[in-house]
Amino acid sequence: MGQGIGQDLIENELAFARFLDWLRIPSASAVAAHAPDVERAATWICEHMREVAGSDLRVCRLPGAIQPSVVGRVEASGAADYAPTVAVYGHFDVQPPGTRTEWSTDPFGAEIRDGWIYGRGTADSKANSFIVLEAVKRLANSGSLPVNVQLLLDGEEEIDGVGIPDHVASEPPPDAAIICDGALWDDRTPSFATSLRGTLYYRVKLRAAERELHSGSFGGAALNAAGAMIECLYGASRGRIGHGRESSAELEALHDGPETLRRAGATPADDTAAERFYERTVLRSAIDVNSIGAGEIGLQKTAIPDEAVANVSVRIAPGDDLQRIDVEFTERMRQHAPAGAELSIETLAAVPPGETPTDSEAVNLGAGAFERVLGARPHFVGSGGTLPLFSVYADLGVPVITTGFATADGAAHAADERFPLTNLPLGIKAICETLRALGSLRR
Ligand SMILES: [Zn+2]
Repeated sequence: MGQGIGQDLIENELAFARFLDWLRIPSASAVAAHAPDVERAATWICEHMREVAGSDLRVCRLPGAIQPSVVGRVEASGAADYAPTVAVYGHFDVQPPGTRTEWSTDPFGAEIRDGWIYGRGTADSKANSFIVLEAVKRLANSGSLPVNVQLLLDGEEEIDGVGIPDHVASEPPPDAAIICDGALWDDRTPSFATSLRGTLYYRVKLRAAERELHSGSFGGAALNAAGAMIECLYGASRGRIGHGRESSAELEALHDGPETLRRAGATPADDTAAERFYERTVLRSAIDVNSIGAGEIGLQKTAIPDEAVANVSVRIAPGDDLQRIDVEFTERMRQHAPAGAELSIETLAAVPPGETPTDSEAVNLGAGAFERVLGARPHFVGSGGTLPLFSVYADLGVPVITTGFATADGAAHAADERFPLTNLPLGIKAICETLRALGSLRR
């Protein structure tokens, strides 16, 4: 073990071995049966950080939370009363692994192959979280942590949990924040997120009859729940939702949409989607049907389904209003529901979009630190994803460095998710350097 992972971690093989054990815990927050694993993954953090000087980390169930999180403070090495406070966020819950046969390895085996660690939760986001934990631990234990760190390790990021965001919103704001949950721009160029999209997540149910019906006796006369659902979804997702912002040729050239789609194995949604990739995925709101179900798909059954269910996500662009999008989406769905269909729309998550200023002292200090370690200045870029905490800090006016050390081809949320081994020591160095730099932050 330890081959090719960089001098830094070879010297600390025990920490690396523990990290692999952490990856093997299937902490899938969306699956009720894995609740004990999320708890175990939380406890692992406290154990791993137990001997850290000046730390009071604890596993807790925050108000409104479904899953446990780990929060606590690690005091600055000297004159903690005068040191700035930096919140440091990561998450340790993971997506469910999905179809086992699509993986070339055990999703929770933490297999090391060709310089990568494979497994669910490697790229998103246990490696990033391990990086921040190690950085804080090393600085604190060597007496060189210049800031008070407010550690926030989330056990419900993948299910848009409100525990940590609500907790942060109710506490005195830190002087700056680091959210470590993402990827490098390319091999050597870091990226700092300037904006994130929000999310509305819906479960839509449609009832068309009291019971299933014989498709011979009733086909052609009785309303079909599957067809009615498709009509609603098709009607609601056609055309733009919200205003969003236009992109430019320069911005699009920088992001190479056609290549990004090709490498992801995706098909462009329409004629201009590839050329306007950045606009579509960052600057505009987007409706996506995530899953749809009706009838019994495994059987050759001649019945008209009485009920259909769909999960729909709406990503909300910076500048678009969450409430207005919510009203518009639900109105569109109702408008397109055929007469007699009973539609119920349940909102499972509602997170507004957010933007952070790129000219703050904290972000500049962070960018300088990353440049010293990686040799390239971070790429400032909007992201299409959602992080509730980002929006909270944006609202509080806390400058936030949102970054990460996974790679664009790390297959987050997909089969064969992976993280490059060399990025572990690189990330630890970059976060150490950033925390050192933030020591000079004016309070
Ligand atoms: Zn994720």
